[in-house]
Amino acid sequence: MSRNAQHDYDALVVGSGPNGLAAAITLAQKGHSVLVIEAHDTIGGGTRTAELTLPGFWHDVCSAIHPLAMASPFFRSLPLTDFGLEWARPPAAVAHPLDDAPAVLIARSLDETAHGLDLDGSAYRRLVEPLVDNWQNFTEDLLGPFPIPPKHPLLDLAFGIKAIRSARGLAESHFKGERGRAVLAGMAGHAILPLEKPITAAFALMMFMLSHAVGWPLARGGSSKITQAMAAYLRSLGGEIQTGWEVASLDSLPPSRAVFLSLSPQAVLRLAGKHLPGGYQRQLERYRYGPAVFKVDWALDGPIPWQDPAVLHSATVHLGGTLEEIALSERQVWSGEHPEQPYIILAQQSLFDSSRAPQGKHTAWGYCHVPNGSAVDMTEKIEAQVERFAPGFRDLILARHTRNSLEMETYNPNYVGGDINVGVQDLRQFFTRPSLSLVPYITPRKGLYICSSATPPGGGVHGMCGYHAARVALRRDFR
Ligand SMILES: Cc1cc2nc3c(=O)[nH]c(=O)nc-3n(C[C@H](O)[C@H](O)[C@H](O)COP(=O)(O)OP(=O)(O)OC[C@H]3O[C@@H](n4cnc5c(N)ncnc54)[C@H](O)[C@@H]3O)c2cc1C
Repeated sequence: MSRNAQHDYDALVVGSGPNGLAAAITLAQKGHSVLVIEAHDTIGGGTRTAELTLPGFWHDVCSAIHPLAMASPFFRSLPLTDFGLEWARPPAAVAHPLDDAPAVLIARSLDETAHGLDLDGSAYRRLVEPLVDNWQNFTEDLLGPFPIPPKHPLLDLAFGIKAIRSARGLAESHFKGERGRAVLAGMAGHAILPLEKPITAAFALMMFMLSHAVGWPLARGGSSKITQAMAAYLRSLGGEIQTGWEVASLDSLPPSRAVFLSLSPQAVLRLAGKHLPGGYQRQLERYRYGPAVFKVDWALDGPIPWQDPAVLHSATVHLGGTLEEIALSERQVWSGEHPEQPYIILAQQSLFDSSRAPQGKHTAWGYCHVPNGSAVDMTEKIEAQVERFAPGFRDLILARHTRNSLEMETYNPNYVGGDINVGVQDLRQFFTRPSLSLVPYITPRKGLYICSSATPPGGGVHGMCGYHAARVALRRDFR
């Protein structure tokens, strides 16, 4: 028996991020005893919130904005509001400032958004409205357990024809004006891939769809409230959580019928490699990690002074200008360079949640993409991009906290080289996360499962990787 575990459990889950907790909840809901083990002193993985800069300023250490949690069929099935989770919903999902022109706003209302896109308005409606009308069916398949056949194949086919394309191809063929093209590029930037690559259009389409279907909310009090609510619900079901226990090897765990590793393939090899056959080990070794992030958190003396004050209507801001500029930035990162003018995803949570900062003060969170393993400090370039669209921003900075991609990995070893999606999400690896298998959550060792975002449907706070892995285990090991 290891560490503080007092007795044997039906299942052990290593990692207390949203996927680990999702796996634990799914098993506990069926009456199985579960222990979640977490290396840090606090739970939450990529959803923690901390006073990173000054006292009273609460920053989301990793995730900040949660359309995927809102849309996730698993999250929607949980009583998380009964356990303290409260969402703040900004009127617009995304703001995309442009030089010398009004910012593009992706508002909750499709009409309002189309209106703001001028000559691209009707093209936007043709592209996005069919997705919004069927968002629950699409979400069920997009967040489904690939490569299992989808539930709505005809619908998906219509989506897939557009989604399989590159974001650049879709933007240039569908929109005539710079406003439509730029905002599509910003949405596709979440793929952390060059916008010329196939499937990057899928990221943009999904982001547009969720903007109107569920909005892009943030958790009141910080992202940590999401996993704190999950943990409270898990405990109400009898589940247990042990923090401060870094699992170094599978052999150090107490006996159980199943073990779920919410870890990167690299960590799975480290912990369990000797129990896995050579062929499977080689597949995990060949798993590809993608570009990384450099992140800055700011404590501010006031709201960001955007040139277009409409940008204050959204918690999420895409900074990078035109399609050409954003595409260049993502191409450079992919080929190992650090862009002079990086594409930035910025969040301004305190505008919509006053608990994040002292009265009259504000927080902001921003990151750009950098090559995997980069130690380059991008603070200056990130702040120059903010200043470009919000002159006077620098004068408001009271304090800042930065984390380069190596520090990201030190903070959470799942982010190998600083890759926050735990593996490239391109066409090839979309369906082979973390190995080529019809049931990617299982490993050749009976009772050993992988449930991190290195499994389908990949990165983001949605809990679906953990949920799918636990459902497979319920069929195989818990009949
Ligand atoms: C800067 C940044 C911004 C992001 N922004 C967003 C966003 O706005 N919206 C969104 O939806 N997603 C966002 N994400 C992604 C999101 O945070 C992750 O996709 C999500 O947290 C993955 O959940 P998970 O449960 O698979 O793993 P994680 O949340 O990474 O949890 C894994 C846990 O395992 C623990 N662990 C690792 N090794 C061991 C070990 N050996 N023993 C015990 N415990 C171990 C870790 O400490 C960690 O707590 C962001 C991520 C980052 C880094």
